[in-house]
Parts: sequence; C-alpha cells; structure tokens
Amino acid sequence: MPNQDLSSQDLPNIGPIVLLGPPGAGKGTQAKRIVEEFKIPQISTGDLLRDNVQRHTPLGVQAKAVMERGDLVSDDLVCGMVGERLQLDDARRGFILDGFPRTVEQAIWLDGFLQHGIFDNSKPGASKVKGAKAAHWTPIVIRMDVDYNKLKFRLTGRRSCPVCGRIYNVHSQPASVDEVCDVDGAKLVIRDDDREEVIQERLAAYDRLTKPVADYYDRKGRLFVVNGDRPMDKVTAEIFQEIRRHSAPASGH
Ligand code: AMP
Repeated sequence: MPNQDLSSQDLPNIGPIVLLGPPGAGKGTQAKRIVEEFKIPQISTGDLLRDNVQRHTPLGVQAKAVMERGDLVSDDLVCGMVGERLQLDDARRGFILDGFPRTVEQAIWLDGFLQHGIFDNSKPGASKVKGAKAAHWTPIVIRMDVDYNKLKFRLTGRRSCPVCGRIYNVHSQPASVDEVCDVDGAKLVIRDDDREEVIQERLAAYDRLTKPVADYYDRKGRLFVVNGDRPMDKVTAEIFQEIRRHSAPASGH
C-alpha cells in the first residue's frame, strides 16, 4: 500500500521514526501530524497484518489466530512483512513506524535492516558516504509519556462511531449532540477495549512489552521522551523540533 504522493524528489530525508507510547497517549494524532508535516508514510504493523488477514495471504492465514488471541505475531513474520514494506518507494525519505518494534528482537532486526542502506542519500539529512548510493539510518525514537490516571481518564472518555469510525472524547472532543456522531447521526459506542476493567490490563501489558524496547533504545542513547501530558500543539512542536534536529544536514546543503 505505497502512498504515491509521498515519494517526491524535492523533499529532504527525514529518516525512520519510531513512536512509542501507551494507548491513549495521543500517538495517533501526533503520527498524523508528522505525516502531514514531513510527507513520510505512517507504517502500522497492526494495519498491515489486518490487511493480510483480510486478503487471506499466507502471512494473514498464519497471523489470524494469533491476533485473535491478542498475542504477538512471531518476530520472523512481522519483520519479513516490515522489510518488504520499507523497500517500497514512498519510504525512501523516511517513515513512521507505528506498533513496531514491539520486542527487543524486532528492534535489533530493525537496526540490522537499516544498516543495509536501502535509502536514498542524495538529499540533505542522509549520512554522506562518498560514492555510496544509499545511506544507513539510525531511528529517531520518541516515547510519549502520560500519567497513568490521565490515561485512564482519557481512555474511559473515548467514544467511537460504529458506522464511520470517527473518534470522540466526552472530556476533550465531545460530539455536538451528546453521544451521537456529527457525521452520520449514529449512536456512539465505547470500544470493548476502552472499558474500564480492560484498560488497566492494556496499560500493564504495554508497560511489560514496551519497556524492554524503550530500555534497548535508551541504552544506545536514542530514546527521546516527550511529556505527552500537555496541550497537543505543544507536544507536536517538541516532536517536530526533535525530528528536525536529527534530520538536519550536518553542514549546509
Ligand atoms: P495493533 O493494531 O498495533 O494493536 O496490532 C493488532 C495486533 O497485531 C496485535 O495485537 C498483534 O497480534 C499484532 N501485531 C501488531 N504489530 C505487531 C508487532 N510489531 N509484533 C507482533 N505482533 C504485532
């Protein structure tokens, strides 16, 4: 599913971005803003897997039961899928990984993959290796932290439209008419996994799974932590600044 209009030749390289953060931290919103600002694709392993399941590909057939149980699909399958996706043209200037890496093994695989230098280094922001056609890249890893009670508050307020999928929040982004979708008038619902009893479990699972990945990047001095507990625009500004800091050319164009 390459995004054709993102492969423009005139834009600078941005590099790989890994967004980490618990459910409800606002990763989805920030990822969309990064896509718009830097014109790089958002690559979600959950979406790619669901697409494979729907199309009954061999990968989809293997992944289906695992996903239904809520377990992680094997590293081999997921890394193979990500590797193929990253070689499409629209990812040559950079990309945002969403939902990946989820394990330390995946993070190690990603580092190895990025060392192979499949990316375009003819533009500012790429590491310049004389005579080389491609650069290897180091991911920019951004973790959005939000206080546990705030997350719980945000997640319990989340409502979605069962018809068009639009997301609302009774606390921060309410529908114009209480509990009714602005777009199609459908009655809004609470997603099963946004129910209070499930939220605690999801947040604990996030901590358990993501912590080793964050620690892996932290040990390498690559983890940038953003306080996601502030107005969205402030968080966006800080994230953009960090991305620009990494992707800016070392010395002028
Ligand atoms: P998500 O939409 O990110 O919550 O992912 C939905 C499901 O896809 C997860 O519950 C996993 O079963 C699977 N999945 C997504 N990303 C990964 C990954 N990086 N590694 C293993 N399984 C994944």
